[in-house]
Amino acid sequence: MIRKIFNKLFKPRFRTERTKLEHHKTEPAKLRSANRPILNTKFGNKKTPLNNQHRGNATVIPYSQHQIDRSLLSNAAHKTIDGLQKAGFEAYIVGGAVRDLLLNRKPKDFDVATDATPEEVNRVFRRSRIIGRRFRLVHVLFGDETIEVSTFRGHHSAEGDAHTDKSGRIIRDNVFGSLEEDAARRDFTVNALYYDPTHQEVLDFHQGFADVQAGLLRMIGNPETRYAEDPVRMLRVVRLSAKLGLKIEPATMAPISKMADLLQDVPASRLFDEMLKLFLSGHAIESVSALRAQHLHHGLLPMLDVVLEQPMGERFVMLALKNTDERIRSGKSANPSFLFATLLWHEVLASWETYKAEVPPIPALHMAMTEVIATQAEKLAIHNRYTATMKEIWAMQPRFEQRAGKRPFSLLTHPRYRAGYDFLLLRSESGEVPAELSEWWTAFANAEGETRSAMLQADTNPKKRRRKSRKKPNDKHGSSTPESNA
Ligand code: ATP
Ligand code: MG
Repeated sequence: MIRKIFNKLFKPRFRTERTKLEHHKTEPAKLRSANRPILNTKFGNKKTPLNNQHRGNATVIPYSQHQIDRSLLSNAAHKTIDGLQKAGFEAYIVGGAVRDLLLNRKPKDFDVATDATPEEVNRVFRRSRIIGRRFRLVHVLFGDETIEVSTFRGHHSAEGDAHTDKSGRIIRDNVFGSLEEDAARRDFTVNALYYDPTHQEVLDFHQGFADVQAGLLRMIGNPETRYAEDPVRMLRVVRLSAKLGLKIEPATMAPISKMADLLQDVPASRLFDEMLKLFLSGHAIESVSALRAQHLHHGLLPMLDVVLEQPMGERFVMLALKNTDERIRSGKSANPSFLFATLLWHEVLASWETYKAEVPPIPALHMAMTEVIATQAEKLAIHNRYTATMKEIWAMQPRFEQRAGKRPFSLLTHPRYRAGYDFLLLRSESGEVPAELSEWWTAFANAEGETRSAMLQADTNPKKRRRKSRKKPNDKHGSSTPESNA
């Protein structure tokens, strides 16, 4: 009896569930699309559920062709996709990660695109938070890994609230859309591939798979329109081609030099982020040369003007970039503050020269640093968190000239000694200071006890002055006030 009631109440449901699952195996996209709630767009007028027709315009690349090894996905990426798909949504790995996997490179991170709204994603994962204003995304957290999940974005020229300014630049881009629309608003064909690890399929709306195989970076749609919408794409094409060794397809390349001026209207902070990616890509040298060849540097990117238009500084900066590239390629981290300190060092040197005519060298250096930070750092939108370290690295440089008494010992204990010393090595390699100086410091830091003391040079500083400064209660060795370093 109880069994009968139980069967009556629950069996049919079980059966439908099982039928669903069976369908799920054969027709996943269709079923999940039909099953999913209608997308709750901000404007509430998108009533057609996402269904198979979008798949209809996509080429489905099977495993036999793409051969992506899904075990290369991080656990977090797997869990995010599983969580969303089990909740009835579509979910794909998208963007740089799919491209990199197809190129046999290790993806930097994994981004997920879904038809779930940010709120729906947020409800699926307990440890997640909605971020962003311009377009809301969800960060799903697993230990120290974060997966960025974005809802399919609609076409900006569709109805909704995408707005462009006079030059065609998109200033608002806030509308949800279908998978196909999401693919169309991405920049390059190789960046618009959608990988479903559960079914091991790649969906391709723009022949991106063929372009990966041909080693081509091709803009989706009309390149001129797409650069006008977002001029940063000009920097991205150059950076990605240098980083991935892909050729820029001729029509994608053609408009760049004549449209380069549009970069002037891009907010400094966005340029800064893009430049940081470029400098820390492990391919900074190639990227900078390519930007130069495309005339993308001149007068447009203050950072690159600074880098390339100092006759004396170019060698130093190129060495610094080469050094950073090598560090990154060998898996080490590179500190942005160190990099910016190198980029602006010759500005500091020039300004220091001027101030030295008026005041003693150390106060003059501090005045120069303040001036360069005030003008350049603001122009380049360098965050405050970097400028403090930059100043420390610069202020340490004259202290390397002091090789007598207790000063070298106190410099070794400076918390940024290593960065200061690496900076000195670059200065010496570029010919700015004698190699003998950096060699002395290398030997001094490695020596011990007696050997180290024996390396010290004779103290030529007037004793009277030192005694006077010792009387000051707060003047400890290693303090970075100009007087104590003089
Ligand atoms: P990287 O490996 O350097 O991170 P990426 O292609 O993944 O390269 P992201 O900035 O992480 O670059 O962007 C992720 C994806 O978002 C891109 O692959 C692309 O599909 C899309 N995208 C990013 N920036 C733009 C843009 N300016 N215009 C259109 N689509 C973009
Ligand atoms: Mg990326």
